[in-house]
Amino acid sequence: MSEFDLAKFEEEAHERWAHAFEPDPSKTEKFYLNVAFPYPSGAMHVGHGRTYIVPDVVARFWRMKGKQVLFPMAFHVTGAPVVGISKRIARKDEKTIRLYRDLYRVPQNVLDSFTDPLTIVRHFAAEYQRVMTDCGLSIDWRRRFITVDPTYSKFIEWQWKHLYEAGHVIKGAHPVRFCTVDDNPVGDHDLLEGDKAEVIKFTLVMFRFGDTFIPTATLRPETIHGVTNLWANPNVTYVRALVDGKAWIVSREAAEKLALQDHTVGIQEEIPGANLIGKTVSHPLCGEVPILPADFVDPDMASGLVMSVPAHAPFDYIALRDLQQAGKYTDIRPIPLIKVEGYGEVPAQDAVEKAGIRNQMDSRMDALTQEIYSAEFSKGKLFEKYGGKPVRVARDEVAALMAEKYDSVVMYEFDIRPVVCRCGNKVKVKILHDQWFLKYSDPAWKQQVSDLLKDMTLVPPEVRVEFDRTVGWLKDWACTRRVGLGTRFPWDTAQLIEPLSDSTVYMAYYTIAHKIRDMDPKLLTPEVFDYIFLGKKSPDLPEKKKLDAMRQEFLYWYPYDFRFSAKDLISNHLTFQLFHHVTVFEDHKELLPKGMVVFGMGLLNGAKMSSSKGNVFLLEDAVKEFGADTVRMFLMGSAEPWQDFDWRNELVLSTKKQIERFYNTVVELKDASGEPHDIDRWLASRLQSHIARTTAALDNFQTRQALQEAYFGIETDLKWYRRRLPEDCDGSRELHTLCSVWVRLLAPFIPFTAEHLWKELAGEGLVSFAPWPVADGKQVNEKAELAEELLARTVEDIESILKLIQLKPKAITIALAPEWKQEIFRTIASASDRNMVVKEIMKDPAMRKRGKAATDAARQITTLIHRLPPHVIGPLLKDPIGEQDVFESAKVFLGQEFGVPVHVVPAEESGLVKAATALPFKPAIVIE
Ligand SMILES: [Zn+2]
Repeated sequence: MSEFDLAKFEEEAHERWAHAFEPDPSKTEKFYLNVAFPYPSGAMHVGHGRTYIVPDVVARFWRMKGKQVLFPMAFHVTGAPVVGISKRIARKDEKTIRLYRDLYRVPQNVLDSFTDPLTIVRHFAAEYQRVMTDCGLSIDWRRRFITVDPTYSKFIEWQWKHLYEAGHVIKGAHPVRFCTVDDNPVGDHDLLEGDKAEVIKFTLVMFRFGDTFIPTATLRPETIHGVTNLWANPNVTYVRALVDGKAWIVSREAAEKLALQDHTVGIQEEIPGANLIGKTVSHPLCGEVPILPADFVDPDMASGLVMSVPAHAPFDYIALRDLQQAGKYTDIRPIPLIKVEGYGEVPAQDAVEKAGIRNQMDSRMDALTQEIYSAEFSKGKLFEKYGGKPVRVARDEVAALMAEKYDSVVMYEFDIRPVVCRCGNKVKVKILHDQWFLKYSDPAWKQQVSDLLKDMTLVPPEVRVEFDRTVGWLKDWACTRRVGLGTRFPWDTAQLIEPLSDSTVYMAYYTIAHKIRDMDPKLLTPEVFDYIFLGKKSPDLPEKKKLDAMRQEFLYWYPYDFRFSAKDLISNHLTFQLFHHVTVFEDHKELLPKGMVVFGMGLLNGAKMSSSKGNVFLLEDAVKEFGADTVRMFLMGSAEPWQDFDWRNELVLSTKKQIERFYNTVVELKDASGEPHDIDRWLASRLQSHIARTTAALDNFQTRQALQEAYFGIETDLKWYRRRLPEDCDGSRELHTLCSVWVRLLAPFIPFTAEHLWKELAGEGLVSFAPWPVADGKQVNEKAELAEELLARTVEDIESILKLIQLKPKAITIALAPEWKQEIFRTIASASDRNMVVKEIMKDPAMRKRGKAATDAARQITTLIHRLPPHVIGPLLKDPIGEQDVFESAKVFLGQEFGVPVHVVPAEESGLVKAATALPFKPAIVIE
């Protein structure tokens, strides 16, 4: 017999698992799952752990269920972040060096080589593989690749040829998120902050100020008729700049932004904001208005100056009111121009006063602004003197008029701020020309994806609306970059395909990755891939035999059954891959993805994990400190995959104790040799339902639920079983079967411990490939289960009474409910409306004769039935148990448990007052 030693189990298993998880096509049915491949620019933390352990548990489960399972892994090294990291390391940036040297523990000599970005990803890809292996991930490493392998680039060129030919790749001018330090567009993954920011379009309303323009940015150009003043921030320094040859006054930030948006900008001089206050400006549509001071004007928001429409904008209304309450500008009145149902003459005033808002700092101001904005847009109408049109029509018309006659231009800005690049620079909106886009805005393409989604299994089902929403709002996507690693864009080789656009069909590449590796990339023309993936024949294909083998392999594995990824990737990657699949496999619907499982987030001691903020616990350290099985069981047991989980060391430690308890129990019980007793029937029956429920949970990816059944369910039963054994018996020989089942049920979760125990149980081969237990209906014994449930509940009742009275008992009497109460129980439990049934019962003359005793019993029984679980009531109705027999045969056990004589009597013969409270399945207990 061996001691519990996780490190030793790990060592043993790693040796036995070498090359064990390298499946090839066979006659067996396949199950192909994959997970978003990592971008290896740093060390793995426990948050990453769950991302890869969930699919591993699922892979192991299906493997034991007899499927040929493919679980591959590769590394995504495309893009700019790693280039930035290498630059920062080269210039000895202290923060970066500290992160890599101290947190990720990269040895100095390796760190020195990190000035080459490829070295960084190669180093961490190797580290990822090592730590993933340490965690027991059953990955087929033969298929590993990185996304800058020349053969992979050839595959990407082929994929893009299909996107291009389908008309989804277009060129144009578009506003994009842009980092001026990296001189590159910025994707979601390149952002430190503001990844939800959207680009919105402002109209610059050009007010005349002498020979200069003062542009104010607005989303509501139609409100120009209600402008009473402009707002400028007296604490901000503005600039006068020549913009496209004309003089403008804007914030310094705005000048920089305009230069990125197709304007030539030359700054001439600075103008303190205070100097603008009190000056007068004019616009043909509103006449002359003054510039007033306001601290809320943000120089980093569009032009840095705004027009004020106090009748329709709550912020403007309050700011003006504040000034007027201080006795200033008291001659200004809000000028209403829109009529909207539900509001009075001046909607902003109405809303502010109704909400009881006192000043600009009130947290409800944004919501209030949004409310008026929506109300006026959906049902507002301009006054007759301003044309009388609905706001939704007038808005575009006024904007067009301003652009045509009054010098207005468009300015792009983010809807939320700040938006910060990974390099620390503030991201701006730039208009890119000759930029390549994937035309995700194309309604026909969207429709194809929507149709595919309808056929897919999405776990959890709630994410479906998020996918639908994403497909709906997706806009054209800038798909090339100038800087970074990756595949050259075939139609403009100065550019590279960006990372979210070259990681969308690689699940197909996995199926051939190990076979294509030794082919000369020069041979890999689009025709070659057309043959492998689409079966399109063409003359002169090279190395036909190899291609045939790859085609066969692809057809065996594809489509994939499930893809796993985190929920923050729904808005990009998880949806993009569907767009690309429907195009590449347009004529092969049978090869389209079948399902997706979406994960929640990981927390560390209640806070979001973040490498850059140092709030991470490295996966490698966790495995070393607690053991891989502990890490796995904790991550699987603390939450379902789609829920957020919280890593806390003290909880992880108790998980380790649970595994040890499991180990010791199996070692103790596996060689038991006693004769089977009645309680063994019960244990075997219970085991069947644990098998069934664990299986059902894992079929639905509910790792937590599965562990509850497979671990705690069986452990609790065993505790009761051992309590119920006669004194001279320490378990029957049938426990060996239970041990075998138990070890297999837990094998997907704690494969190292399970592998060791499987050997101890003399199981055949590896537990990783042992048959998954199947529930045997013949062993289910509802009566035995009910009898034990009744007994356990009664023991619990006695214990709680003893605790309450704090006396040493001399004897215990269990008084059983009479038959007429059993009859009431059956009537109520089987009634469709349990509350109405009491009247029915009392129609029976025999019951009526019992009077109050019967109505009381009916009431108590109704309450009892509400409390009893369905798994008791159902079987009890089908086949009542003889309570007398149950307790008689447990008399010895009960005597041992409480150390006093236990009497079992029919309540109505006992002569005890308390016995009148006896109910079916809840006998009265009298303690002397
Ligand atoms: Zn940057």
